[in-house]
This record gives sequence, structure tokens and C-alpha cells, in this order.
Amino acid sequence: MVPTPTHWDLAVVGTGPAGAATALGAPWAEPGLRVALLDRADFPRDKACGDGVAPHVLDLLSEVGVTGLVDDRAPVDRLRPGCGVLVAERRTARPARGVPRRVLGTRLVDAAVAAGARSLRRRVRDVRQYGDAVVLDGEISAAVVVGADGAHSVVRRALDLPGGPVALAVRGYVPSAAERRGAQVIEFADRHQPSYAWSFDLGDGRADVGYGGIVHENRPAPPRVRSLEHIEALLPGATEGGEHWVGHHLPLSTARRRPPTGRPLLVVDAAGAVNPPTGEGIHHAVASGSKAGRASAAARRVGRPEAAGDRYAHATRRVLLPHPRHTALAARLARSTRVPEAGLRASAADQRVFDDLVELGLSRGRPTPTMALGPSRALVAPFLPTSRLPEPP
Ligand SMILES: Cc1cc2nc3c(=O)[nH]c(=O)nc-3n(C[C@H](O)[C@H](O)[C@H](O)COP(=O)(O)OP(=O)(O)OC[C@H]3O[C@@H](n4cnc5c(N)ncnc54)[C@H](O)[C@@H]3O)c2cc1C
Repeated sequence: MVPTPTHWDLAVVGTGPAGAATALGAPWAEPGLRVALLDRADFPRDKACGDGVAPHVLDLLSEVGVTGLVDDRAPVDRLRPGCGVLVAERRTARPARGVPRRVLGTRLVDAAVAAGARSLRRRVRDVRQYGDAVVLDGEISAAVVVGADGAHSVVRRALDLPGGPVALAVRGYVPSAAERRGAQVIEFADRHQPSYAWSFDLGDGRADVGYGGIVHENRPAPPRVRSLEHIEALLPGATEGGEHWVGHHLPLSTARRRPPTGRPLLVVDAAGAVNPPTGEGIHHAVASGSKAGRASAAARRVGRPEAAGDRYAHATRRVLLPHPRHTALAARLARSTRVPEAGLRASAADQRVFDDLVELGLSRGRPTPTMALGPSRALVAPFLPTSRLPEPP
């Protein structure tokens, strides 16, 4: 006998930051909505990540009623981007937090369940659209489905949407080294931009260390051992005592990206929206997830679930779409090593340039006159006879 599908108002495929934020945003817009959160993994689960959580993520979570989620994690307010002898170490306007994804993921799912969602273990393999519902694996039907199932999204494949540019990054956990303690250290490679190694202090005696870079036909993904060599070349000694090495793809945003309209929506990694120069994705995950949840709930409330995608596209147009255009441009510029170097020189010289570039890297900011002028001056400075790199403050 064919089983009758269980029906939900909203089914969210994937319970990363995007999926959890979707399940938090929906009941905020319409309490009592029946929301299923589906994930192929049991929580707590690991996920390859730098574990850097920007303060803006916490702002967004508080908008959907979640506060104090990572208050027990040490704030980190020193950021040290560098490229060889160029270093622009400064204090950030607001501290980030290093939160292992096992911890962050579990807390987000718990918050979504506390807000009324039902968390179900399921690897979704099949997505079909009918006139009045979307059916998953022939067993779960929903008025609206949100695809938050990450880089290799089955929902994206079901919608037959093309993939875009991708990066690959590998990370491990190492005992925190004294010279990098209390800081987020980023060391740009001197070729194949954008690519860099990082060491993000977690404040619990460990650092999250990794290396990531864009991959394409002519530049295939390096084997893991090669990634570790890249880390060592850029941050000597950083892999010592490392464990739990894992890698994952990052689908990067492009200037042309448009969210699909209709019933299945796609958010963040599933939609290919990771910030290309930096690999930041959690902010965009939570921002787009919470908007997708609200849009789905609002469409359902007025009896037009099929309009969820249009509502989501409308809600994200002004807030989320301009940024990919700016970061895609930044990523294109960053392919020339001289541009990141100019950014570093200008950041070392001027806190405002540093702050603006951090905002852009964290998926929120946009180019400002200070940002444009600082690196432009720094680009020509090396050709002037008396140019010197300013001392760090
Ligand atoms: C090495 C690395 C370092 C990074 N560092 C940072 C960083 O420091 N800061 C930052 O902001 N971003 C970072 N990112 C990017 C960030 O990790 C992602 O952008 C973010 O996790 C995207 O969230 P998401 O919810 O869209 O997807 P994910 O976090 O990937 O979650 C997707 C979920 O979907 C589930 N799933 C997948 N397929 C199915 C299926 N068929 N059925 C059911 N469930 C399914 C998975 O189990 C998973 O739980 C990094 C990425 C990598 C790879």
C-alpha cells in the first residue's frame, strides 16, 4: 500500500544555520505553524567550518527571539590579516566568537525545536512538486519546502538549477599556539587568489585551522595532504597536533544569482551564496533562512503558499542581493595579488578602511568611499619613492 504522506505547513530540508533560522523565522511570523526540520545527520554533528561566528549573526538571531546562544564562548576581537611581510592587525569594531559547529548546530536546532519545529532524521532523496504541495520521498508533503541542504543540495538539483563557482576548504583542530592566541589570523596566499590559510582561536585551548581556495576545471581540488602543506607554508607550525581534519565545498555567490520563485526556496549554501573573497556563510545562512521562514509563513497565512518564493525574493532583493554583487566584484579584484595587498596596506594605515573591509568580508557591508580610496592610494604607493608600510597600532 502506498503510504499517505504526512502533511506539514513548512518542511525544511537541512538543519544547518540556514535551516534552523528558517524554522525560527516561520513561527515568528505565524505562531502555531507546523514545521518539520529534516536532516540526514544526527545532532550533535560536525561540519567543516572555520567556526567564526560574526556578531551580526547574533543580532539576527535576537530578531527571532534567540538570545545568549553563545554567551559562554570567548569573544575574539583581534583580527590579523596578512600576506607575507604585510600585516594589518587591528581590533574589530565588535568581537566575533569561535564556536565549534558541533556546538552551534545543536544549540540552533534546540532553539528551533523550542520555537515549535519538529526535528526529524531523514536523508531526502526525492523532491516532487504538485499543484498544491511539494512531496519529499513520497512520504512527507508540505505546502512549502525550503532547501537549506548545503553545498550539494538535492532541492537545488530537483529545481534543475545550475551550480556556480565553488571553493574547497579543509579544517582541523589544533592546540592553540601562544603567538596566535586571542586572535583570528588570516594569511593570504601569494598566488591563486582568493585563497588563504586561517587560524581562529576558539578560546578553549584550541584553534580552528584551515586552508581554502577557489577550485575550477584548471585548478582541481588539492588532496588533503596538499591543503595541510599550504597551511604550513602560510602559517608555519599551525598544523602541529592537529586532528579531525575535514573538508567541504563552498558554493560561492555571484553577481547574477537570483533566488528561485515558487514553492521550494533555496537558502545559502544550497543557493550558492557564500561570500567569495572570505568564505563567510553563516551570516548569510541565518539572514536568508530567517527571511525564508517568514516569507513561507506569510504566504501560508494568506492561503497562497505557492507565492512563498515571490515573497522571499521580494524580501531579500534590497537586503541580500546587493551584497553578492559587491563581493563578486571584490573577489574578481582579489584575483590579482596586488589588490589584497593594497587592502592590507590601507587597513594597516586606517582603522576605517579596516572596519569597512571587515564588514564586506562578513557579508553585510558594501564598498564605501574610504574603502575605495584607501586601497587605491596603497596600490600606487609602492611605486612612489618614499613609500613605507605603517607600523601596526
Ligand atoms: C572549511 C570551511 C570553513 C568555513 N568557515 C566559515 C567561518 O569561519 N565562518 C562562516 O561564517 N562561514 C564559514 N564557512 C561557510 C559555512 O560553513 C557555510 O556557509 C554554512 O555552514 C552554510 O550553512 P547552511 O545551513 O546553508 O548549510 P550547512 O551548514 O552545510 O547545513 C546543511 C545541512 O543539510 C543537511 N543535508 C544535506 N543534504 C541533505 C539531504 N539530502 N537530506 C537531509 N539533510 C541534508 C546536512 O546534514 C547539514 O546539516 C566555512 C565553510 C567551510 C567548508
